[in-house]
Amino acid sequence: MDRVESLFRNGVMEMATYSPIEPPDQIARRLGLPESDIIKLDANENPYGVAAEVLKELSRAKYLSIYPDPAQTAVREEIAKYVGCGANNIVAGAGADELIDLICRLALNPGDKVLTFSPTFSYYKHVVELNGGVLVDVPREEDYSIDAAKLPAIELDGIKIVLLCSPNNPPGNMLEQEVLDFFLEKDMLVVVDEAYFEFSRSTYAGLIDSHNNLLVLRTFSKCFALAGLRVGYGIMAPLLHEAIMKIKPPYSVNMAAEVALRVCLQNKAFFEGQVDRMIATRARVIAALSVREDLQVYPSQSNFILFRLKRANAKELKDALEQKGILLRYFNTPQLRNHLRVSVGTEEQMDVFLNEFFSLLNNQ
Ligand SMILES: *Cc1c(COP(=O)(O)O)cnc(C)c1O
Repeated sequence: MDRVESLFRNGVMEMATYSPIEPPDQIARRLGLPESDIIKLDANENPYGVAAEVLKELSRAKYLSIYPDPAQTAVREEIAKYVGCGANNIVAGAGADELIDLICRLALNPGDKVLTFSPTFSYYKHVVELNGGVLVDVPREEDYSIDAAKLPAIELDGIKIVLLCSPNNPPGNMLEQEVLDFFLEKDMLVVVDEAYFEFSRSTYAGLIDSHNNLLVLRTFSKCFALAGLRVGYGIMAPLLHEAIMKIKPPYSVNMAAEVALRVCLQNKAFFEGQVDRMIATRARVIAALSVREDLQVYPSQSNFILFRLKRANAKELKDALEQKGILLRYFNTPQLRNHLRVSVGTEEQMDVFLNEFFSLLNNQ
């Protein structure tokens, strides 16, 4: 036909493409490097890879040829036990990302507003716009905190959802309790994205019993090393639970993910050990970067570190590191001018990163 795009929903063709992450084998090919040389510190994945126990169970999973349970009965019970809540407080999805989409689909009529505080996770803007919502973006303070004293000045009329993130990505700081309390008392859905909960070891999930408008999100992508299997979950009071269960796609948590998450939760101590190592590595890397007076390093409760280059060009450094197979995330938005974010990798990976980074910085 002539103009097939005339059939698309309003605004879709004008939407920005969500910035793609390139798979390591493609990057290796593009750079002409062996795949084993790639040090992937750009997406906050678990650097130790899928746990051996998980691989073993996946290889003998019995039910990959049948559909997963749309009621998620076993999955919800297992996650609930880990969280310390009831199974009717949990909905699992294809990543925490799917839960963000579902809460938007549940609440937004075209033109409804969603509040965020930037800088924050860039997917929020994308998914809000995809669902016909209008993003109201309020800038954070210079240290990327949210000042509770300034909240009463925000026009809340027409805002249905506020998307908060704790620890926030990319700065790595925690959500302030006063800020959360302020929104929980308003007539809106309050999302607290705790994708990095296992690293901060601090949660607001306990508040679902007293607040039926709260949705806490978690994921198996980061600490549990299942980013490629796509599984996350939301924690919420029963009424919100009932509504999200109603609208969710029936089979979005695949059977392999179900097997894998079960093994992960049975081996909690194993992952806690990895997190301990990553927290120690994080402290070491922050200390090493902080020695330089030409860098501004932000504290982090997460498995990544954000820093600003005061003089050197962050994009050039990012590109130069990439030539050596070391991948970082580069930001250059009004609030993240000339910033880089590095995921906490293994001890050895971070030694390579620090060496290469400092030698490039000294020669720039
Ligand atoms: C990585 C990340 C997610 C995505 O989680 P998935 O479960 O992989 O969809 C959600 N929120 C934040 C803040 C993240 O950094």
